[in-house]
Amino acid sequence: MKSFGYAVESKTSALGPFHFDRREPGPKDVVVAIDYCGICHSDIHQARDEWGGSIYPMVPGHEIVGHVTAVGKDVTKFKVGDLAGVGVTVETCMACENCKAGEEQYCTKGMVGTYNAKDYAGNVTYGGYSDNVVAPEHYVHTISPKLDLAAVAPLLCAGITTYSPLRHWKVGAGKKVGVVGLGGLGHMGLKFAHSFGAHVVQFTTSENKIEDAKKLGADEVVISKDADAMAKHAGSFDFILDCVSAPHDINAYLGMLRLDGALCLVGLPEQPVATSPFALVTNRRSLSGSMIGGMRETQEMLDYCAEKNIVSDIELIGYDRLEEAYARVVKSDVKYRFVLDGKTLKK
Ligand code: NAP
Ligand code: ZN
Repeated sequence: MKSFGYAVESKTSALGPFHFDRREPGPKDVVVAIDYCGICHSDIHQARDEWGGSIYPMVPGHEIVGHVTAVGKDVTKFKVGDLAGVGVTVETCMACENCKAGEEQYCTKGMVGTYNAKDYAGNVTYGGYSDNVVAPEHYVHTISPKLDLAAVAPLLCAGITTYSPLRHWKVGAGKKVGVVGLGGLGHMGLKFAHSFGAHVVQFTTSENKIEDAKKLGADEVVISKDADAMAKHAGSFDFILDCVSAPHDINAYLGMLRLDGALCLVGLPEQPVATSPFALVTNRRSLSGSMIGGMRETQEMLDYCAEKNIVSDIELIGYDRLEEAYARVVKSDVKYRFVLDGKTLKK
């Protein structure tokens, strides 16, 4: 299928216009014309090959919303014209125990990413900085028309990646929860933790985000460079969600966990994390991680957002500002997710 988007040709090249072919849609596939696509920090990590193994040319983008333009003959969930969303995953084996449990992101055969991956048939996948996407209906989500469509896009990655661990660790009323890093993931983690009824403390390196953090639902905001402010929270948290994209000292946060408290990493800096065993054995603490979420939970999250009127706080930009947006994300100058407007994608 003829397609057009923006790609990087190598880890040092800028994003530029790119014509490419997607695989032809099959009987179970949905074709989605892309109206909006969020910019995730994972797009930058992969475009710049910070995790290794990047496939070029690469069309990034896995926070995709749009409308359905074609459906295969076996598709039952969608018809032409429906709103639809595609996130980080476009293929899994559907036969392993994790897939059967609805945790397709942990497929033992390996989940196929929306871009920078090869599907099981060997086709390279291309992401949402483009005019359309093809995916089996199992990986396509229903979107409520009640919400601002552009602001829904980031829910497909930043939303589910924070919703899933907060649900898994049963965050809610009576729990003290920390969110580290107020970027795309962090601001969604903050909104969800607040919405679930927890007492939420936002940690940030950016003093200019304090007022925003309070408006987004933080009960307290701590500047993580302020050692005295940090010390006041020692041994007090049930759960901390670390959404930071760059290397930082996690021992400072481990030391804030109470008995049986857990620190969950969702941020993916390229460097290994150094931990102190003493920080872990004290209070029987857990250090863990979490990756996006399964298809059933992604739909649950989208439906929850429609019910509670939760969307991402976005800065809607044209394709001419892609490079500027990347530079600002890397500088932590994002409030709080850039979203590309498909109307500005011109051949
Ligand atoms: P982002 O919008 O750039 O936010 C990252 C935030 O981290 C920044 O806004 C900043 O917040 C903080 N930060 C940055 N550099 C820091 C440093 N040196 N020390 C301390 N804090 C720093 O990124 P994102 O899109 O939310 O993604 C965050 C991370 O999650 C990325 O590594 C991404 O690849 C990863 N990710 C993982 C999954 C998953 O499934 N686990 C899914 C999506 C993304 P403050 O200004 O508040 O300090
Ligand atoms: Zn992402």
